[in-house]
Amino acid sequence: MEKPQVIILLGGPASGKGTQAKILAEDIGYKYFGTGDLLRGEAERGTELGKKFAKLMDVGELVPDEFTDPLVLTKLNELKNLGVVLDGYPRNLEQAATLQSVFPDENFLVLNIIVSEKSLLKRMSSRRICDKCGKIITVKNDEKICDFCGGNFIQRVDDSPKILEKRIKTYNTRTAPIIAYYREQDKVKDIDGEPPIKEVTKEIQKAVKGKLTD
Ligand code: AMP
Repeated sequence: MEKPQVIILLGGPASGKGTQAKILAEDIGYKYFGTGDLLRGEAERGTELGKKFAKLMDVGELVPDEFTDPLVLTKLNELKNLGVVLDGYPRNLEQAATLQSVFPDENFLVLNIIVSEKSLLKRMSSRRICDKCGKIITVKNDEKICDFCGGNFIQRVDDSPKILEKRIKTYNTRTAPIIAYYREQDKVKDIDGEPPIKEVTKEIQKAVKGKLTD
């Protein structure tokens, strides 16, 4: 395989793909782009579009492509000639086709982070995010204040128990088919996402670095 210009992290909600995507981008000097952050940012600004996004995100549904495409395409075109790590995109087969149209050379590497449904549910219910700097933690002792910036740790609305199962279902029906699509093209590397963060990072480094030295 040619040196991948685009590295896609796929995995269920709370599989650690966001955390690992940020670590990887920093490590190899690629740009990080996460659509969850982009859409949450729009929702937080409270624009008309943002309000629509919030309603869907809060119930664990995907935001329709007609809304995500203009935002995502602007960003992808900015990143066109750079190395990029994608978190949360593509999320369905149509988005995979859109991505392909911006990066027609097909030099993608897909890291499929595998975590059991039981672990996903457990992780999501104990995940908290800092409302100021965005740091993500797994609560152990009811931590409320961010040790990094002093902000408040809050639970994402879509991490609440009743939305968890819906998000996993959305992942299985809409996003998982992309793995088969990329697997047919021999672009997928499976990563065991069950171990602690540092170990998963090491496995990802091993999977990526060999390809980058080509
Ligand atoms: P994430 O932070 O990646 O878990 O995304 C949170 C929520 O944002 C998802 O449950 C979706 O509602 C929405 N979202 C993120 N990325 C996309 C995307 N590529 N297409 C549609 N909706 C998305």
